[in-house]
Amino acid sequence: MTRLFNDPDDFAADSVVGFVAASARWVRPTNGGVVRSTRGAEPTVSVVIGGGSGHYPAFAGLVGPGLAHGAVMGNLFASPSAHQVHSVATAAHEGRGVLLSYGNYAGDVLHFTQAQERLRAAGVDCRTVTVTDDISSAPASEREKRRGIAGDLVVFKIAGAAAEAGHDLDDVERLAIAANDRTRSLGVAFSGCTLPGADEPLFTVPEGRMAVGLGIHGEPGIDEVDVPTAAGLAQLFVESLLEEIPDGVAREDARVVPILNGLGSVKYEELYVVYAEVDRLLAEAGIAVVSPEVGEFCTSFDMAGVSLTLLWLDDELEELWLAPCDTPAFRRGAVEGRVAVETVASEEEEFVIGAASDESKRAAQTVGRALTAMAAMLDAEAEELGRIDRIAGDGDHGIGMQRGSKAAAAAAEEAVAGGAGARTTLHHAGDAWADKGGGTSGAIWGEMLVALGTALGDDADVDADAVGSGVARMKDAVMSFGKAAVGDKTMIDAIVPFADRLNERLDAGDELVAAWADAAKLATEAAEATANLTAKLGRARSHGDKSLGTPDPGAVSFALIAHTVLDILKGND
Ligand code: ADP
Ligand code: MG
Repeated sequence: MTRLFNDPDDFAADSVVGFVAASARWVRPTNGGVVRSTRGAEPTVSVVIGGGSGHYPAFAGLVGPGLAHGAVMGNLFASPSAHQVHSVATAAHEGRGVLLSYGNYAGDVLHFTQAQERLRAAGVDCRTVTVTDDISSAPASEREKRRGIAGDLVVFKIAGAAAEAGHDLDDVERLAIAANDRTRSLGVAFSGCTLPGADEPLFTVPEGRMAVGLGIHGEPGIDEVDVPTAAGLAQLFVESLLEEIPDGVAREDARVVPILNGLGSVKYEELYVVYAEVDRLLAEAGIAVVSPEVGEFCTSFDMAGVSLTLLWLDDELEELWLAPCDTPAFRRGAVEGRVAVETVASEEEEFVIGAASDESKRAAQTVGRALTAMAAMLDAEAEELGRIDRIAGDGDHGIGMQRGSKAAAAAAEEAVAGGAGARTTLHHAGDAWADKGGGTSGAIWGEMLVALGTALGDDADVDADAVGSGVARMKDAVMSFGKAAVGDKTMIDAIVPFADRLNERLDAGDELVAAWADAAKLATEAAEATANLTAKLGRARSHGDKSLGTPDPGAVSFALIAHTVLDILKGND
């Protein structure tokens, strides 16, 4: 239970203010997160980490000399937006390139990749290493699909130490990859976390039972067993992790760093009881333990859970793991020669409204009305969408869509009031949606609105044909951005039939409203039919079978939106 908050909607932002106030020795605020408040004598490669809030000390607690240069801070359990990533990376850049590193989650990948493209386009050498340590989230043959949990710390620490030692970007990237290749984790949970202002936990585990492999956002586990003794849990951890010794490691003279991580409400003494047995079992297996860590490194609010991470060292990784660092939440040895940097207010990008034709301005007003209606509808449906997402995903689809559409509606209203055309209004709304909605759906809806806006332009009359080709463009944009195909159990399963049917009917000579009504009906049927599919992409992927019988939340929300827009189009007639 999270007891203390003001307005629950402001929880993440309020927490950032307090964190920054308490941590000025290490960090200063910038748009989208924090960067170091000191610099060394020489510029280094910049390591920029991040993800949703709710996992402290991941991510902002790991910013400081010897570790990360900046952390992008998304909303609760929602990936930060591309805009935020770009802003923090730009503030952290010292001229020697940027390494982006974060846990492998679909929403984070979309937003960080988009930011990477923007940084590269601006001439900044930028690379990415995603963390994939959680052995329960995909089989060993598909390691690149695994998600990142407490192994984040390992990859960030190694990359940060390599940067601090003066390595160039090629080398920092190589070492971060090596660290990820040699890091494996397994987690368990006894009960779920309750987000600020929520009445119920995000997920539950039956009394007396333990979910094995449950994710840090409550993504379902792979198994459920009776709660074992502390020794029994240590045995499960060590046995499971020893079954997957990384390539290139000889077990006989292996040296490992064990990290026993509490997820929120399993506290230190309890962890030490487990660690006693972990230590004994590793010794028994003939494995040398180096510089172990027991504490909280990647949490999930007040979730009752524990994970064990093993980093299999080589000489290079060992030296970097042991190198000094100084951050709010993780310190080692003494870091010297730091100079304070002055805080300069980072500038907000200005929003410019260009010229537009009267027809396009009228279309922009319709866009504004549609977005306002969507925001009201999604506000009412947020709980149900969250419920569907909780079954196989992480339960945030309702909140994400609610936040994103609200921000998009406000941005559209601002643009329309300033005399913007359809293109400008949709671009402004799309950026706001991606920025405030976060998550996979935030990135995708942002991309869709921007693509639609580009198709509609600021001058042209928006007639039925323009809407038809705009929607087709929107469909193409999501497919090339998210790389999902029909049948993968994503919103694509509703978008494709919707866009295709709309254009078929328009080509056959139907009026816009009639064509849209038919397409929206088909979108609803298609969304319902996703219940029969298993998920192949997104957060729900690692628990594909669990989603059988439940429709895809993104497809459901798309169909609802298609109907809301239909009502607005009808009103225009
Ligand atoms: P997150 O998955 O980051 O928690 P949301 O819960 O807001 O984000 O959105 C989940 C929805 O995003 C899914 O139901 C699915 O429809 C959609 N989605 C996930 N991955 C993709 C993708 N690659 N392409 C299109 N849609 C996707
Ligand atoms: Mg979700």
